[in-house]
Amino acid sequence: MITKEDLHSYVEIERKEIIKRGDDFFQCAELGFCEVQTSKKIIDLLVDWGVPYQKDVALTGIIATIGQENGYHIAVVADMDALPKKDGSGTIHSCGHSIQTTIALTVLKALLDSNVLAQTDCKVSFFFTPAEEFIDFEYRDGLIAQGKVEFRSGKQNMIALGCFDGVDCVLSAHANGEVDTKFDVGSTLAGFMAKKAVFVGRAAHSGVAPHIGRNALHGATLAMSGISFLKDQFAPDKGLRLNPVLAECGGSVNVIPQQTVLETYVRANDNETLLEACEKVDLCLTHCAKALELDCVITNTVGYLPLRQSNKINSIVKENMLQFCSPEEIMENPVSGASGDVGDLSFLIPTVQFGFSGISGRFHDDSFQISDLENCYINAAKVMLGIVYDMVKEKNNRVLTSNYKEKKEEYLSFIRKNS
Ligand SMILES: [Zn+2]
Ligand SMILES: [Zn+2]
Repeated sequence: MITKEDLHSYVEIERKEIIKRGDDFFQCAELGFCEVQTSKKIIDLLVDWGVPYQKDVALTGIIATIGQENGYHIAVVADMDALPKKDGSGTIHSCGHSIQTTIALTVLKALLDSNVLAQTDCKVSFFFTPAEEFIDFEYRDGLIAQGKVEFRSGKQNMIALGCFDGVDCVLSAHANGEVDTKFDVGSTLAGFMAKKAVFVGRAAHSGVAPHIGRNALHGATLAMSGISFLKDQFAPDKGLRLNPVLAECGGSVNVIPQQTVLETYVRANDNETLLEACEKVDLCLTHCAKALELDCVITNTVGYLPLRQSNKINSIVKENMLQFCSPEEIMENPVSGASGDVGDLSFLIPTVQFGFSGISGRFHDDSFQISDLENCYINAAKVMLGIVYDMVKEKNNRVLTSNYKEKKEEYLSFIRKNS
């Protein structure tokens, strides 16, 4: 059978092509659900390589599958979308999603050229997923209103469409901002829920008869204190973050505020904490309102679920990284306050997302630049390829999804209830 080194040599053959392609995708920065040119570039390559694919999935997404029908099914997932520039002059790939697209295509091409899957019982699907950044709500909510998508994120829609049904594991990679290490493995990503609480009281003249009013701002202020006390009830490793703001105070110095709007994200490192914290925040909001004879209407908008990584796959990830760096150059289990819709996938299917360095400048900023082409395009792709190889070659390295159907039903009813 073909060796891992043989597989890596296919990347070497394409080296120049890969780096050129990476730059091409980096220049093609499109916002979520608008990745039309990116999608076209991917399709052109797939057609050229003779790979079957589905297009226009969740508007601009693509799924390409190679290997054995009904085999052990590995998903390699890559984001496609970019962000608006801070200076308002267009868009930029300031989260490095173009690198993910490039890596996925490199892995696909090497598997194809080597024909390694023909000797196995496996298939590998490449998911090019739109709209990962949680932004641009007006546009996305418009698409939802028109029935073009159901949710704001690409992967959430692809899950609902059944695209991940039958997938046994999910492999992904994301650029990180580290300078002292080459890779990270086992990182957390926080889950979050956006909450909006509208406190409703009764307006009155603040000089003549304040006592007949019911001050909505007082209710929100009381709740702000309660919410900050709540943080003490969670251990630090739970990653709970609550940062309420008063989006609307309501009223003037002359009028007792009739309506005040408090908004907050609830962020946490695991689902249990996220749900527990949401419940406690709701209790806090409603009881503070009640204490002052106010009404409080809470609406939730689900963000992303926390990323829960598969330890078993991550031990394979780490072994593959060690081919390209020393142990000290791998950061293990970092805690991140960032979020991603790969978290939603990890609720359903054993999932990993490893990190690779090679970025200068800041993420989500116009200063973002790809500075280490070797690590971003070549090493990271070889790591991903090595993980796939280890799983297709050795059955003991495989993990299986359990209770997918039940979990998917639970997941969809949760996000539909909170969207
Ligand atoms: Zn981002
Ligand atoms: Zn990102």
